[in-house]
Amino acid sequence: MGWVTEHAPTGAEVNACVRCGLCLPECPTFRLTGKESFSPRGRLMAMSAVADGVVEVDESFAGIMDSCLQCRACEVVCPSLVPFGRAMEGARAELAAQMPSRTRTARHLLVGRVLGSPGLLRMATLAVKVGQKTRVVRVLPSLLRSGFAGIRPVKPVAAQPGSTYRALGQRIGRAGFVTGCVMDVWFSDVHAASIAMLQRAGYDVVVPATQTCCGALAAHDGDVKDTHRLAERNVVAFANVDVVAVDSAGCGAHLKDYKHWAGQAGELFSKRVFDITELIDQAITSGRIPKSSVDRGPVAIQDPCHLRHVQRIVDAPRNILRAAGYSPVEIDPDGRCCGAAGMYSLLQPELSHQLGAAKADQVRQSHANVVASANPGCEMQLRSHLGKGYEIVHPVELLWRAVQEDDR
Ligand code: SF4
Ligand code: SF4
Repeated sequence: MGWVTEHAPTGAEVNACVRCGLCLPECPTFRLTGKESFSPRGRLMAMSAVADGVVEVDESFAGIMDSCLQCRACEVVCPSLVPFGRAMEGARAELAAQMPSRTRTARHLLVGRVLGSPGLLRMATLAVKVGQKTRVVRVLPSLLRSGFAGIRPVKPVAAQPGSTYRALGQRIGRAGFVTGCVMDVWFSDVHAASIAMLQRAGYDVVVPATQTCCGALAAHDGDVKDTHRLAERNVVAFANVDVVAVDSAGCGAHLKDYKHWAGQAGELFSKRVFDITELIDQAITSGRIPKSSVDRGPVAIQDPCHLRHVQRIVDAPRNILRAAGYSPVEIDPDGRCCGAAGMYSLLQPELSHQLGAAKADQVRQSHANVVASANPGCEMQLRSHLGKGYEIVHPVELLWRAVQEDDR
């Protein structure tokens, strides 16, 4: 039958692959399994075979696509600049269109309903927290159960919808603050630190009340309709700000890719999107945020794939840690995926667990007991696999903590 949607991988995207294999050593799922079908090249060949009508979009094809983390480490080394992330989103859209009855109903409920509603997410989190203290969670498979251990305690919302937090010192612009879905409920301390540091960087911080989930999980899951809807709503919500500030690397990567989901308006929107580490690093470099002279010790740095491979941001979180008085300790110069990858830990628990365990080992070998990670999913994965004795925080939280200590 071939492809049936306008979001399918295009011939130009798939045929750009020259089958050189340079991406294979960079692909976490190929490294774990050694299987060609679990490599970028193998996945592109499977897409090509569907386009040529040689194979159908069936369970076998779904298995090849679903095992991909969408970490995009393959894009960084590809000499032919294959837009693998876009092609994979197209393949996921085809799976959703051609195999709607697979497990996608439950996924749609989770992605479209629970994550899209802060109230429902709070209730679901409360249920999980109660379940953690009872037998309910203990009867879940151990690999799935470990994921719940990574959730931070739920706190009151830090970024109040409709609020403006005024710049401290010289005002340089107006930043629209992305509250996200899980960030707002599970990571309100990260939001509080990000807003405080943006104020110190000279931004008036506004929290548009009409904003919604960025749509990254919906896009990864092939839900084209929802992804369009969410993108179009955010483009309008953030129309009147100079920059769009986001403190979740996964959300930022998707917000920078709105041209695929909201046309020209989306492309213009994406040009104003910055990860919080970029904005704070700029403020440090230009002297708007002073550097601490206190030596606060080592911090292991974990690079989220959507920061390092997709947004190509490597230096900014390290500069922030140094400005806060910490010494960043490298744990993985190649920035391999930790296995969190959106809902991957729920949908592919075995592979996710192996990658999470390997990343935790890298942290242990660093001998640092504080880890800086700029993405909520990675943070939860690390906490699940490291267990007690480690603190996992966003780099901007460490800077905000240092600024408050230095102010005393
Ligand atoms: S590096 Fe690029 S061109 Fe080479 S096999 Fe991988 S995807 Fe294809
Ligand atoms: S996105 Fe990541 S997991 Fe998927 S093929 Fe590329 S390197 Fe492998």
